[in-house]
Amino acid sequence: MQDNEVSSFTTRTVHGGDQRSVADNAIFPAIVTSSSFAKRGLDDVPDYAYGRVGNPTRHAYESCLAELEGGSGAIACASGMAATNAVLELLPKDSHILVMAGVYGGTFRLIEDYRGRTAGLEASYVDLNDIAALREQLRDNTRLIWIESPTNPLLELVDLERVARFARDHGLLTCIDNTFCSPWNQRPIEFGIDLVMHSASKYIGGHSDLIGGIVVAADTERLGELRSVAMATGSIQGPFDCYLALRGLKTLSLRMERQAANAETLARFLAEHPRVEAVFYPGLESHPQHELCRRQMRSGGAVVSMKLKAPREAFDTFLGKLKLFVLADSLGGVESMINHSYSMSHGSLNHEQKAAQGISENLFRLSVGIEDIEDLIAELDRALRAL
Ligand SMILES: *Cc1c(COP(=O)(O)O)cnc(C)c1O
Repeated sequence: MQDNEVSSFTTRTVHGGDQRSVADNAIFPAIVTSSSFAKRGLDDVPDYAYGRVGNPTRHAYESCLAELEGGSGAIACASGMAATNAVLELLPKDSHILVMAGVYGGTFRLIEDYRGRTAGLEASYVDLNDIAALREQLRDNTRLIWIESPTNPLLELVDLERVARFARDHGLLTCIDNTFCSPWNQRPIEFGIDLVMHSASKYIGGHSDLIGGIVVAADTERLGELRSVAMATGSIQGPFDCYLALRGLKTLSLRMERQAANAETLARFLAEHPRVEAVFYPGLESHPQHELCRRQMRSGGAVVSMKLKAPREAFDTFLGKLKLFVLADSLGGVESMINHSYSMSHGSLNHEQKAAQGISENLFRLSVGIEDIEDLIAELDRALRAL
């Protein structure tokens, strides 16, 4: 939407961006599959020329998501990892970056196994809330701070405003992986962050039927650089998947409202349960960063982690009682999911690395869906009592 008359986030999830110019009067933008677009003459410069460079369906999706994040524009990529890679392509070779400790495993792998070897990238993993540590790690070639908040699976938060201020003072770029929040829950550009990256495979798509990624730039200069990267490296999102992501956005607010409300109710239930040792949820007053959560997020979100009072041998019994909570790697869909961090999301780390990150064997992450909360509570209660 080009005017400022509509301020409501939810209204913008339905009408946001530039969706009407795509196909004559269609309520929903068409899936335009054409790889090439005809010129009317040698001097004609059409909006679209070639599908890698620009595509109307992709544009509709990018412009909507950019508006929801309050940015100047976005580039939609083939996956969350492709989006992260596009951001790292902005850096000159032999750069150094500061990365939130406990960052998403795929991001760690990309930096350590590939960007280091191919681009000389070096990373220091630090708790970004420790500004003294940040200052200590600064080098002449430090270029970027890579933020993730909340972290997976222990849901620690980073104070976005503070980190953005530190970055500005030292001439560093900031990028946040905002996947766990979606723009419904957290809009980092409002706190001074330069770039916002999402795995659209999670809340943006919202239906576990899509792999995608997207980067939103706060200012037009960065947006131009990102567009060049997307065009040059070619890891763009195809029109069918852009259609799915845009369709997902239409119900983002409804899904997130329901999922976050379910998650909070569930977190309170689990916190009182005799078989639960600890609950991690920033929306609970007992979370050490609850005040920060209230400042920079709309709610505690839809992910809840918990440690069970039970040995490894009992987990199969527990999981065997779950029908609604699907044992799966992903999160963010309308269906509830459960993940065993120790053997699944963090399975490639050794025991010491996991221990250093607080990943114990009795830790489970719940991605709470839109089901009836009474059913979710009843099922978890049954499974916990079987322990
Ligand atoms: C899933 C995920 C990614 C990677 O996204 P893909 O779409 O799987 O490539 C990055 N960051 C976070 C926090 C994720 O959950």
